[in-house]
Amino acid sequence: MVAFQGDVSEHVQAMGRALGDEGSVVEVRKGGIVPECDGVILPGGESTTIARHLARTGVGDEIRTAAGSGTPIMATCAGLIVISKEIVEETRFLPLGLLDVRVLRNAFGSQRESFEADLEVEGFGPPYRAVFIRAPAVVGWGDEIDVLARIGDLAVAVRERNLIGLAFHPELTWDLRFHEIFLDMICEVGIDVRH
Ligand code: GLN
Repeated sequence: MVAFQGDVSEHVQAMGRALGDEGSVVEVRKGGIVPECDGVILPGGESTTIARHLARTGVGDEIRTAAGSGTPIMATCAGLIVISKEIVEETRFLPLGLLDVRVLRNAFGSQRESFEADLEVEGFGPPYRAVFIRAPAVVGWGDEIDVLARIGDLAVAVRERNLIGLAFHPELTWDLRFHEIFLDMICEVGIDVRH
């Protein structure tokens, strides 16, 4: 759990609920921890601040390496911006360039700072109620990207192999279906390693 800034405690609690007794969540504020982790969560918050800490501590490079070797990454809201390949407008930081998407910050406008929406997500059955807070959206994506949920023309949940990017805040609701996808990804990697 990347814990420099943002929705850290909410994510730790939500992941704790999803995990039960099956594992633990570690808060990452310095280098050397990510290589030991089975999965990495990047929270929502302020993408400029999170990106600055990732660069300063070397944790960003560690995440890049982990992602390249198949470690599952779940990036939410500002986290999605940080792991993207491209941000539409100019920013004071370079994204990590992991997820092959083009992201628009504050895509739903400042007048609609936060809102909730019922999303149809492939494979979920009943809709997923998502909380959006000054949310980004995915406005373009590469061939390897699976779009899991959309609002109009915008993608708001995407997956590319071991990477999952969500424009909303899955840690703020009791519905843990996205956390379960992420945990399944972690278990699949574990199985690959053992065989
Ligand atoms: N708008 C924020 C940013 O650009 C993201 C908002 C959020 O993570 N809730 O970093």
